[in-house]
Amino acid sequence: MERNQITIVGAGLVGALLAALLAQRGFAVTVYERRRDPRVAGYAGGRSINLALAERGLHGLRLAGMTDTVMRLAVMMRGRMVHHRDGHTELLRYGRDDSEVIWSVSRGRLNTALIDAAEKAGARFEFDRRLTGATFDDGATLRLENEAGVASEAHVAFAIGADGAGSALRAAMNAHAPLGERIEPLGHGYKELEIPAASGASRFAIEPNALHIWPRGNYMCIALPNAEGSFTVTLFLPNEGVPSFTTIDSPAAARKLFERDFADALPLIPDLEADFAANPVGMLATLYLERWHIDGRALLVGDAAHAIVPFHGQGMNCGFEDAVELADLFAAGASDIGAVFAEFERRRRPNAQAIAAMALENYVEMRDSVADPAFLLRRELGRVLAARNPDRFVPRYSMVTFTRMPYAEAFARGAAQERVLRALTAGRQHIGEIDLDAADARVRTAIDPLAS
Ligand SMILES: Cc1cc2nc3c(=O)[nH]c(=O)nc-3n(C[C@H](O)[C@H](O)[C@H](O)COP(=O)(O)OP(=O)(O)OC[C@H]3O[C@@H](n4cnc5c(N)ncnc54)[C@H](O)[C@@H]3O)c2cc1C
Repeated sequence: MERNQITIVGAGLVGALLAALLAQRGFAVTVYERRRDPRVAGYAGGRSINLALAERGLHGLRLAGMTDTVMRLAVMMRGRMVHHRDGHTELLRYGRDDSEVIWSVSRGRLNTALIDAAEKAGARFEFDRRLTGATFDDGATLRLENEAGVASEAHVAFAIGADGAGSALRAAMNAHAPLGERIEPLGHGYKELEIPAASGASRFAIEPNALHIWPRGNYMCIALPNAEGSFTVTLFLPNEGVPSFTTIDSPAAARKLFERDFADALPLIPDLEADFAANPVGMLATLYLERWHIDGRALLVGDAAHAIVPFHGQGMNCGFEDAVELADLFAAGASDIGAVFAEFERRRRPNAQAIAAMALENYVEMRDSVADPAFLLRRELGRVLAARNPDRFVPRYSMVTFTRMPYAEAFARGAAQERVLRALTAGRQHIGEIDLDAADARVRTAIDPLAS
């Protein structure tokens, strides 16, 4: 077994990008994947039909030489298009201009493109090989099984688990040496529906270049555009209470909910009842681990190490940062794999914890605050202060989405900024009531200058 042989479990988004980055750096990479080859069997579905790609994810794709391929599949989203109860809509831009946007991409197409790139760079994929267990002795022994139930074993120096939130490698590692696992269910789930492509000149039935949100307090709908003109709509509801997936438990109940709460979306979803009946309710949770590795024998990355709720659109983006960081550590040529894994965990775990917390906070912001005047005033003031103090004040959403500043730093700076905004807007209704020179002075005392 050579040091430059690397075994990955899971050819999802993170496993496939990691395989590409490592293979491009000359490592001999083998990937075991439970599903059949999506290029032959068709994409077998995943956790959402499309997802939002931001700067952190784009950086990983750039390093893998994949920007052109992926951008051809992507639809630009300039901001949140908020659909209010009375039917009026307003666009809340994410950034300053079109240089600060996010991109909607198809999970299946992105995953397939990543597998193609990794294979082209020399990575070897073994599809239809589900990890069923592992032991860790001198290296790692992986037990694998195909759909026909045929079992096999692979003895490897070490394994990297990129096998997602329900990671089988994590379960095996946890049985060998407890990882301090804690899974916190959100108590809310989701169901996907579809707005089909339109037949007119624009293929899109609603504004294509936005992430649409119908915020309704304790629940919401969102819709992200797909390149061919459709939108994937995701209904987020609590698991219990009124309304919830317990009370909205049939296609007829779903129609009633849409008639009452999402009236402008209803005519756009002709197959509401059929979609509702056919698509499962997805569960959402945050995974916390105290340890991500067992010395030099196994390491977890992506959702397998830190699954988060999807409300900041950062799970994949964070996982792509993992892939870049780990590929860099391997490429630096360390001979002690245990030290590589420990350093990876040291660098990434605080950042994963920070984005987990921000993703939870963003659910409240999306479903509730975007319709709250006090939030909108803080948001407006934040943008004014950012323009007046660009060396110190950057809206937290922008730090997370348009920069590669460590998540932990964005979280801490965001908290300091929020304290300033709350103090300055207390008891105020309009930005005109705020003394902006005094506000600048407060920014200068409360917030450190940005590093660069
Ligand atoms: C509703 C929803 C919306 C989301 N939206 C966004 C978004 O807009 N932006 C964003 O950045 N993130 C988003 N995410 C998060 C994103 O989906 C995940 O962070 C990302 O998929 C993690 O990639 P991964 O490769 O770690 O895991 P996965 O994508 O889950 O891939 C795991 C892979 O491992 C394979 N596997 C599983 N078990 C085994 C086994 N036993 N043996 C072998 N192979 C196995 C699976 O088949 C799969 O291919 C969203 C998530 C959800 C649920």
